[in-house]
Amino acid sequence: MRKLCAGNWKMNGLKREAVALAGALVARAKAEMPPCDLVLCPPATALGWVAAALAGSPIGLGGQDCHPADKGAHTGDVSAPMLKDAGCRYVILGHSERRANHGESDALVRAKCEAARRAGLAVILCVGETLAERDGGTALDVVARQLANSLPDGIPAGELAIAYEPVWAIGTGRTPTVAQVEQVHAHIRATLAAKVAPAQAKDVRILYGGSVKPDNAVPLMGAKNVDGALVGGASLVAGDFWAIAQACL
Ligand code: PEP
Repeated sequence: MRKLCAGNWKMNGLKREAVALAGALVARAKAEMPPCDLVLCPPATALGWVAAALAGSPIGLGGQDCHPADKGAHTGDVSAPMLKDAGCRYVILGHSERRANHGESDALVRAKCEAARRAGLAVILCVGETLAERDGGTALDVVARQLANSLPDGIPAGELAIAYEPVWAIGTGRTPTVAQVEQVHAHIRATLAAKVAPAQAKDVRILYGGSVKPDNAVPLMGAKNVDGALVGGASLVAGDFWAIAQACL
């Protein structure tokens, strides 16, 4: 299956930086065949600038979050139809920073996934255990529970990616071993197969995220059941993001 490499810029990117980063990646994508599907998820304020920079290129645009309601009295929030209107094809939901910093429950993440689908957005749903859960031996249970409770039924395989992001690997420079990644990804695949039809589950892209860098991307992206990457810090450097994408070939 063609892999997907998504860049989560988080709360980084003023206009000048955002346009320069997107422009550098568009230039690479014009000069060379993109090695996989590419998506940039800038902060909401930069979506319009980045959409303009990506116009006519094969690089897709994504949001980092959306509200469960389509519109209304929700000061400071961004709805899924707004993301769609800004040119997004994807939205990241259930990121551990939102689960931790904004107290997002599985039920809320599920409602956000439903809102995204109503707006016609593809969902990148994040799951992953904390260090205490990993050390306590419950990583597989945690991921299965997050999937059971935050993934709505009926999302077509082409409109869904699951990002396995161990919380302890995000922004820390620590990564799980390839064997650990393969174990969790196989478990995610099996959990999906029990939830949706097995034939569908095999086509859902399962991304790995957490301190992916150019120097560790080849073994991680070559691991079984790894269908791409969700990249934070390294996605802010065009050459690093491109190198990781190349490991997704
Ligand atoms: C992320 O937050 O989605 C992420 C993967 O971050 P980093 O690559 O910086 O660990």
